[in-house]
Amino acid sequence: MKIKYDTKKRLVEQIFLLEILKGLKLTLKRLFSKPVTVQYPKEKKPLFPGFRGRHALIRDPKTKAAKCVACMRCATVCPSRCIRIRFSKDDETGARKLESYEIDALRCIFCGYCEEVCPVNAVVLTEEYEYSDYTRDPFHFDMERLLKNWDDFLEKKKMEPEKYLNPYLRPRGLPVGELPVGKRVEVPEEWTMEGQVIWKDGKAVSAKEADC
Ligand code: SF4
Ligand code: SF4
Repeated sequence: MKIKYDTKKRLVEQIFLLEILKGLKLTLKRLFSKPVTVQYPKEKKPLFPGFRGRHALIRDPKTKAAKCVACMRCATVCPSRCIRIRFSKDDETGARKLESYEIDALRCIFCGYCEEVCPVNAVVLTEEYEYSDYTRDPFHFDMERLLKNWDDFLEKKKMEPEKYLNPYLRPRGLPVGELPVGKRVEVPEEWTMEGQVIWKDGKAVSAKEADC
């Protein structure tokens, strides 16, 4: 394709420095408009609901231990294979006892599947995002560290554990009745599923129609 140049137009533009004037106009406009730069860390922007930050294991308010029942769902669903769990079994009852729980946060893609799939809301991606460091080790969270992450999160948010309700801990679009008991928590109205389309009985319906 042959490109045609309008030489007269280009000449006028060059004589009157049109491009420079356009640039100056933009500069002046921005000079008197409200700045968009946030002076982090002095200023912090509010987080979007459902923000996925540092991992934590939620403590059972009664026992103060991790709520995890070692069902292995999170480790199974994790696409990055960055969750490692070890458990033992009670000889008499056969009940599982959590021995260790580790997350390699540097491999995590923050998909949130682990917290969605957990039947007892034991693992969570908190809203904490300020945890940079100089080495890799601090990002390998063991159970103790994950529990501490939870304590620190609550402390920072000045929150009672039972008041923490993150609707993103549960898979969205599923009817309440199909969720494990621990997930059947009340969801604030602003986070309802209205308008979300889900697949039900072989057809796509709105989550509202599906009684989510
Ligand atoms: S957020 Fe996703 S990638 Fe990260 S630990 Fe959970 S399931 Fe794995
Ligand atoms: S899904 Fe929940 S209860 Fe099951 S192993 Fe993971 S954190 Fe523990």
